[in-house]
Amino acid sequence: MKLLNLSFSEIEELVESLGEPKYRAKQLYQGLQMGKKIEEINISKDLKALLAQNGYTTGGVEIHEKFVSKIDGTIKYLYCLEDGNIIEGVLMHYKHGSTLCVSTQVGCRMGCAFCASTIGGLVRNLEAGEILGQVIAVNRDNMTKKERAVTNIVLMGSGEPLDNYDNTLKFLRLVSCPEGINISMRNISLSTCGIVPKIKELAKEKLGITLSLSLHAPTDEMRKDIMPISKAYALEETIDAMRYYVKETGRRVVFEYALISEKNDTKECAEKLAKLIRNMQCHVNLIPLNSVHESGLSGSSGNRVAKFREYLEKDGISVTVRREMGADISGACGQLRRSYLSKEVK
Ligand code: SAH
Repeated sequence: MKLLNLSFSEIEELVESLGEPKYRAKQLYQGLQMGKKIEEINISKDLKALLAQNGYTTGGVEIHEKFVSKIDGTIKYLYCLEDGNIIEGVLMHYKHGSTLCVSTQVGCRMGCAFCASTIGGLVRNLEAGEILGQVIAVNRDNMTKKERAVTNIVLMGSGEPLDNYDNTLKFLRLVSCPEGINISMRNISLSTCGIVPKIKELAKEKLGITLSLSLHAPTDEMRKDIMPISKAYALEETIDAMRYYVKETGRRVVFEYALISEKNDTKECAEKLAKLIRNMQCHVNLIPLNSVHESGLSGSSGNRVAKFREYLEKDGISVTVRREMGADISGACGQLRRSYLSKEVK
């Protein structure tokens, strides 16, 4: 059993079931949330022994390696899981706080043509405590006197969060728990390639998180070429699900659009995109594609990105071009883990 999968009340129940006084639960829970190992937590020796006898581990992650950008202080992390698997994440600093990008799976089975995370397929889902463990490890690694380092979270690391729905939802509840890390749902974004029934299920939860769709193409034909998920769900029903999310939650949604040179970055594409999302409470995030060696696709030039943005804005769409962070330690989604794994093989 893994302790970080448990909520505060479940920890209370556990401590009581082991015959220990309830107040120890708070010490145990807070110690875990601070990233301490069981041995380091201020609880009785008896409780430590009981936890060990019953096979409890923390179930979090350990920082395996980190890379700090000299340009903007962005930090890329490789974490090690208790079973030896490696995942990655990145901490980005902004004026309003710091955003941690977390992984939800080891690898991914969605097969997007441009993405490094999916190249080796899906190894396994992360448990809720392993997703939470990334936030805890980074907070501990960046300990400042009063505040926790991580103020915002994006579920945009390796993996498809809606393909690991139950653990993702449990993570969202754990990380926003007032007795724990207590990050508001409003400071959390979840990005999906578009698993339509799960988008609708998530909408019904009314959690207050921001939902992003990785759109990347304005027609079914073009999207099928780069994102296999669109063979299962047509663009129209995917966009309808996003409209449903807005209706149910009252939250503005985001469309991620990675610009691929001479492929999806033409004026015609911009016009089709604008038409597709017309009259919707939404925002478009443009990202020049981060070229992944294996995919053979390359990102659009600054000039083409600026033009694409102009076309959309002319149609009244709200747009930002995502700033590149940590250019000197860069690597697209999943590249760090891949380069680590290929080094291992050699
Ligand atoms: N599976 C989820 C979340 C993980 S991917 C999703 O598909 O949204 C996080 C974001 O990075 C997605 O928008 C994804 O399309 C994008 N991405 C992946 N590889 C990229 C690359 N090489 N360049 C730019 N964006 C990329």
